[in-house]
Amino acid sequence: MMEYPLTLQALLRRAAALHADGQVVGRRPDGAIERSSYGEVIARARRLAGGLLTLGVVPGDRVATLCWSHREHLEAFFGAPLSGAVLHTLNPRLSTDDLAYIVRDAGDRVVIVDESLLDVLAGFRDRVDLERIVVVGRPESGQEAYEDLIAGAGEAPALEEPDELAAVAMCYTSGTTGRPKGVVYSHRSLVLHSLMSATVDALAVGEEDRVLPVAPMFHANAWGLPYTAALTGAALVLPGSRLDPESLLELIEGERVTIAAGVPTVWLAVLEALDADPQRWDVSSLRTVLIGGAAAPPALIDALERRHGLHAVHSWGMTETAPVAAISRLPQRFSEAPAKRRLAQRARQGRPVGLIELRARADEREVPWDGETMGELEVRGPWVAASYHGGAGAEQFTGDGWFRTGDIVTIDGGGSIEIRDRTKDLIKSGGEWISSVALESALMGHPEVAEAAVIAMADERWGERPLAVIVARKGCRPSEESLRAHLATQLPRWCLPDRYELVEAIPRTAAGKFLKSALRERFAGTGSR
Ligand code: AMP
Repeated sequence: MMEYPLTLQALLRRAAALHADGQVVGRRPDGAIERSSYGEVIARARRLAGGLLTLGVVPGDRVATLCWSHREHLEAFFGAPLSGAVLHTLNPRLSTDDLAYIVRDAGDRVVIVDESLLDVLAGFRDRVDLERIVVVGRPESGQEAYEDLIAGAGEAPALEEPDELAAVAMCYTSGTTGRPKGVVYSHRSLVLHSLMSATVDALAVGEEDRVLPVAPMFHANAWGLPYTAALTGAALVLPGSRLDPESLLELIEGERVTIAAGVPTVWLAVLEALDADPQRWDVSSLRTVLIGGAAAPPALIDALERRHGLHAVHSWGMTETAPVAAISRLPQRFSEAPAKRRLAQRARQGRPVGLIELRARADEREVPWDGETMGELEVRGPWVAASYHGGAGAEQFTGDGWFRTGDIVTIDGGGSIEIRDRTKDLIKSGGEWISSVALESALMGHPEVAEAAVIAMADERWGERPLAVIVARKGCRPSEESLRAHLATQLPRWCLPDRYELVEAIPRTAAGKFLKSALRERFAGTGSR
């Protein structure tokens, strides 16, 4: 057989030759719908690649994006690698400290940024070495306009076919304590992940589909859906920055979306809107509501189906797994099971997709697939990270070729996982991570705080919200307002704890660490406000 390289270039050649008419639909910041095609997007991506070369980009350079989900961002997904560079998506919701660190750690030379996100860039610009700033919209002085770059450039000369193991894109994750870590995707991993995603028992994407990634393009590349859609010719519907339920429902109805993918918080809000006015939107085109990134509540899966005829599919993955690694389609043997049993099964995080292997270990030993014994989930496969950029987080890779996820699971007899807990000291709120450690160190910088521990509290809307447990300095009684005001100078507002509890002492482990399980037990069930 031929050693045919699995590259983004090969995927784009196919898209240009066979799906040039395939639609790319986007929502502009003013709400207007803009229509384009893979043919146009790929032609513009080739010119963007040419433009990046004129800016001095050389193979292997990192080109960052700070953008919502729209056509130009898709062009950068394709165009940065066509110039030989590595696409690096930045999450505008991160703190400026994290963004500055990430841009430095990745060594980004150029950034493509939305006009509406220039203030985010301004928050860390003087702490990084970005050489060129390309603005989608109106540039400020010293910056280039994206459209000028494209208009002024010819198509990039076709580069030699890259090695399939070469880097094509990267994305940072805050998946454990400490600094964010870079995950670098290879051409090969991207192509194989796209092929797998398209398969019927995975995301089932075909040419007749119209795919709406609600998950932003800076979250694990919108779950790889832009690539999967281009490979199959499915229409891609990009929501821009408008992720409120009404805008999404309008898009689903107007564009006859068949597959939409997002975190539970998005679907909870959509459900609320549908419940409030079930006749207002026609969602009959929607074949699959893909829910992932955080645990989908069984009640959500049930209500979407029963009240609105929408079929929800629960999926598990990580930035480190490109991200789709497990999917919870109902196994055949449950097809005749009572409705409650079927729902419980579908609400698990599911079985590994093709070519992904899972195991769980506790005390150095693999736990049995009995649906009861808990262990840390480990994963391996062709789109699982083998290391982090720069060698960070080496402890997450076992010596024998598996990646430690930090998720605590049980595995049932059929190989379906259920996430029960996690070892990482983080809070996942609306699909975004909040670092407990960052909140704790910021809180401990408050003049009236002696000690602070931050835990996750279950929250109906956001999945989890932070709760801060505080020991005050002698003779002090810090007010909630002053704690919030103090934190707000260092962290984005949405990261701030919803509740503050003053205690005499924080329980500790023998090793002197905060015993967070005791805190969770003590405050569990009290909910976050
Ligand atoms: P990220 O790298 O930001 O995508 O986060 C990956 C982590 O999100 C996983 O390790 C889990 O802790 C969590 N996660 C992702 N999908 C699910 C899911 N379906 N249910 C529960 N947790 C999830």
